[in-house]
Amino acid sequence: MDSCEVLIVGGGPAGSSCARRLREAGIDTVILDKATFPRDKVCGGWITPAVVEELGIDLTEYAGGRVLQPITSFRTGKIGGAEVATDYGRAVSYGVRRFEFDEYLLRRCGARLMLGEALCNVEREGDAWVVNREIRARLLIGAGGHFCPVARYLGASARNEEAVAAQEIEFEMNAEEREACAIRAEAPELYFCEDLKGYGWCFRKENFLNIGLGRLDAHSLPVHVSKFVQWLKQSGKLAFDLPASMRGHAYLIFREAKRKIVGDGVLLIGDAAGLAYSQSGEGIRPAIESGLLAAKAIVAANGEYTRERLDVYRGMLASRFDEGRPDWATRVGQKLPARLMHSVAGFLLGTQWFSRSVVLDQWFLHADVPALDC
Ligand SMILES: Cc1cc2nc3c(=O)[nH]c(=O)nc-3n(C[C@H](O)[C@H](O)[C@H](O)COP(=O)(O)OP(=O)(O)OC[C@H]3O[C@@H](n4cnc5c(N)ncnc54)[C@H](O)[C@@H]3O)c2cc1C
Repeated sequence: MDSCEVLIVGGGPAGSSCARRLREAGIDTVILDKATFPRDKVCGGWITPAVVEELGIDLTEYAGGRVLQPITSFRTGKIGGAEVATDYGRAVSYGVRRFEFDEYLLRRCGARLMLGEALCNVEREGDAWVVNREIRARLLIGAGGHFCPVARYLGASARNEEAVAAQEIEFEMNAEEREACAIRAEAPELYFCEDLKGYGWCFRKENFLNIGLGRLDAHSLPVHVSKFVQWLKQSGKLAFDLPASMRGHAYLIFREAKRKIVGDGVLLIGDAAGLAYSQSGEGIRPAIESGLLAAKAIVAANGEYTRERLDVYRGMLASRFDEGRPDWATRVGQKLPARLMHSVAGFLLGTQWFSRSVVLDQWFLHADVPALDC
C-alpha cells in the first residue's frame, strides 16, 4: 500500500495552494481528485489581486497561452434599473478560465497527483487514514468543494444548509457572436436581483463570455436566471442566443456555514469548509487563504495531528473571515420593511458613490483587506 504524510482530497485552488506550501516545508503530500486535469469548474473566474500576490503568480508567464483578462472598470446596478459605470483606470481584478487556472496551480504545486480517482472509501486505522484501500495518510484534508466527501464524513449535510445556488455558462464566442456582444472585456457587468437576494453577471474574457446568476434562494433560481438572460437580450447587451444550457453549482458563505472543520487527523479547506465572502460570493481567494492557513497550522503541529493541535486553524479562519457585524448598508437594510428596502437599494445602486465605495470597493474588491501574509 502507498503512503504519505498528508492526503488532500480535491485539487482545486484550495487543495493546490495548501499542497504547495506543505511541499515547501518538505512534507510528503498527495492530491487525490476525481477529475483529470485540465477540468472545468462552474465559476465566473474573477480573481482579485490578493490572489496573485498570495500565490506569487507571474502574470506575464501566466498569460503565455492562457486567458488573462485585466479588469479596469465595471457596470453595476439593479436588473432593469439604472446602470452606473465605474472606472478605476488600472487593473483592479483579473478574469481567468478555471479550466486553465486550476491546472496551472495544480501542476506547479509539487505534490504527487492521483487524478481521475474519486474518494470512495475512508477508514480510520489507529492514528492513520486508509483511503480507497490504496493509500495510507497521517492527515486527511477535505478540499473537495461544496459536496466534499470528507466534509460529509465530518457530518456536513449539504441538503440542510442554506447555500448560494448559482448557474453559469462560459463559451468561446465566434466572430458573429463577438460582433453581437456589447459587453466590454475590461468592464464586467453586475446586476442585482429586485429582492437583492442575488446578482447576475456578464463577463467577457478576451473572446470568452461568462454569464451567470447566483442567489441565496435556490427555489426561484431558474426563474431569475431566465429573466436575467432575457433582459440582457432586450437591453441590447447580447444579440444572440446562448449556445447551451447553463450549469449549476452551490457554495456556502462563511456567515451561514456551520460545518465542523477540524477533527482528529482531519481538516477542511476552501468550499468544503464554506468560506465564500457573503456579499460577492468570491470563493477563490478564501479557498486559497484557507489552504495557506491550514498548511501553517499543519507545519506548526509538527506531526502531532490531534484535534487540539489542529484547532488553531479554526481560530485563524475565524479571525480572517468572520466579517463580524454586517456593514452599515446591510444593517440599515435589515431594519427597513422589504418594500422600502428595495426602493432605497434601487436608488443607492443607481448612484455613483454607493456603487464605487460600497458595492465595488467593499463588497467585491475587498480593497481594505490586504493579501494574507503567511
Ligand atoms: C456559478 C459560480 C460562479 C462563481 N464565480 C466566482 C468568481 O468569479 N470568483 C470567485 O472567487 N469565486 C467564484 N465562485 C466560487 C468558487 O468557484 C469556489 O469558491 C472555489 O472554486 C472553491 O475552490 P475549492 O478549491 O475549495 O473547490 P473546487 O474548486 O470546487 O475544487 C474541488 C475539487 O475537488 C474534487 N472532488 C470533488 N469531489 C471529489 C471526490 N469525491 N473525490 C476526489 N475529488 C473530488 C473536484 O473534482 C474538484 O477538482 C463561483 C461559484 C459558482 C458556483
